Amino acid sequence: MTATVKKVERVVPDLAMKAYVPAILEGLGVTTRHFVQNLGNLVSGRKKSKRGTEEIATIRYPDEKREYPPRYRGHHRLMRREDDQVRCVACFMCSTACPANCIYIEAGEHEDPTIEKFPVRFDIDHLVCIYCGMCEEACPCDAIRMDSGEHTKPKYSRTDQRVHLVDLLERGGPSIAKQGGRFS
Ligand code: SF4
Ligand code: SF4
Repeated sequence: MTATVKKVERVVPDLAMKAYVPAILEGLGVTTRHFVQNLGNLVSGRKKSKRGTEEIATIRYPDEKREYPPRYRGHHRLMRREDDQVRCVACFMCSTACPANCIYIEAGEHEDPTIEKFPVRFDIDHLVCIYCGMCEEACPCDAIRMDSGEHTKPKYSRTDQRVHLVDLLERGGPSIAKQGGRFS
């Protein structure tokens, strides 16, 4: 397969662009268009959505949520073994592959001699994460996944965006993959 290269012309920003004026006007234009459209639909009651309510251009978040596409990368989760223990063996492959350097792991020695290590601490800083999926790709144990379908919620402090082992395991579930990456 031959690789295709798409050349992107570099735009030299003028003063208006540097001041974000066109972008602000464009954003206001979209908001106004949605407002007028919603108002028109609500007043006339013409259009009904599948839910039987008036069709509007925006959604009533958080009561209504958009359905994300299957390839959407959501909040990380750590998977569990059949006996409910964490699958992660603290090999550091994910933190090594992470281009944003936002995974912090501390390894502990496992009492089971067949399991060498496990994470005593596993933190991900979601303010630094770029949701590239490299951690998921690098993991040989299907221990970390980004298929929760949840986006990172806004928080009041920067430190609250750092998620820990407990949070990550709460979202996790059982995995049928054999340690080493192959599915049974
Ligand atoms: S998604 Fe990318 S940036 Fe985020 S933790 Fe994984 S490897 Fe790092
Ligand atoms: S790559 Fe997988 S097994 Fe290794 S430390 Fe990361 S989550 Fe754990």
